[in-house]
Amino acid sequence: MLTALVTGGAGFIGANFILLARKNQWLNIINLDKLTYASNLENLAELKGDRNYHFVQGDISNIELVSYLLNQYQPDIIINFAAESHVDRSIFNPQVFIQTNVVGTFNLLEVSRFYWQKLSPQKQQQFRFLHISTDEVYGSLQPDEPAFREDTPYAPNSPYAASKAAAYHFVRAYYHTYKLPTLTTNCSNNYGMRQFPEKLIPLTILNALDGKSLPIYGDGQNIRDWLYVIDHCEAIYSVLQQGKIGETYNIGGLNEQTNLTVVNKICAILDELVPKPNFSYSSLINFVPDRPGHDRRYAIDCSKIRRDLGWQPKENFDSGLRKTVQWYLDNSDWVNQVRSATYQNWLKQNYENR
Ligand code: NAD
Repeated sequence: MLTALVTGGAGFIGANFILLARKNQWLNIINLDKLTYASNLENLAELKGDRNYHFVQGDISNIELVSYLLNQYQPDIIINFAAESHVDRSIFNPQVFIQTNVVGTFNLLEVSRFYWQKLSPQKQQQFRFLHISTDEVYGSLQPDEPAFREDTPYAPNSPYAASKAAAYHFVRAYYHTYKLPTLTTNCSNNYGMRQFPEKLIPLTILNALDGKSLPIYGDGQNIRDWLYVIDHCEAIYSVLQQGKIGETYNIGGLNEQTNLTVVNKICAILDELVPKPNFSYSSLINFVPDRPGHDRRYAIDCSKIRRDLGWQPKENFDSGLRKTVQWYLDNSDWVNQVRSATYQNWLKQNYENR
């Protein structure tokens, strides 16, 4: 079985990917994660005792550490999930986005290129550097514009999107200049279990359960294409297996929804699963001033990955959303933990300055 160095594997998508990769025996995994606020090692608790899974706490910007890990574990694949990922945070503090998303990715590429050059010809052929990116690099669409294709020009509008766009340009340059075997995926909005409750769907579920207001930016008519996280993970594995070196694959759910619709659907599910007399969760909806520079619409044309790799999204949005709500209802310990100061302190005590 091949070995992958996965970065950011204690976060939402990375953890779901690692669990699936181990369950299906796709890959042996080394997980390098800095353990920022968005991470949770509990995501991976079920891998305790798995000899083909190793966790290392550390920063992708740390060249010595990344070099050591490549030499020590000799991975065949690098999958770069690690990122600062929240647009609102990037508006208030863009610096850390540049550091992790741009400088960190550059460091990974730089170390990978020297590592790759020293591999045997057979291992060189096998090696892949897969960069996980986002549809936000393409900017915003008008209602009547066609969905983003792989050749849509980049036009990032938020500091987060700009940092992901910059990182991608280094990935591209390393393929063209050094022939490093890179692949890139640009995915639409993910939803599902284990997402940190600052993002729209878990925030809405948990605020509603707490009886707090459900903030919606502007008029709530901003459109996102939603993809179930497991569908995303399966797409990533298809790209690793069959993707053409140097290419980008757009991954989407064929599922455009306004933010207001998403929130109303969650409220309707909660009305059914956790009913309260004479009360609808939708009464908690509260329109708040719009996010600066808020992109109006994202939509992904994923015909390339469907045609060339035979992947397609499987999960229906209504059933995926219901499963997601149910997961947050069933996992109140997880929720309390990620929200608690105790967990943040435990992280500091166990991992800071190591
Ligand atoms: P997340 O914020 O849940 O997880 C990010 C993980 O990266 C965390 O575990 C964090 O500790 C780790 N990390 C951050 N900085 C690091 C560093 N310097 N070194 C090592 N680890 C570090 O993010 P996510 O939602 O799981 O997103 C994963 C990737 O997928 C990101 O690259 C993101 O841009 C991309 N993406 C996300 C979505 C989405 O809807 N969530 C959509 C498309 C693409």
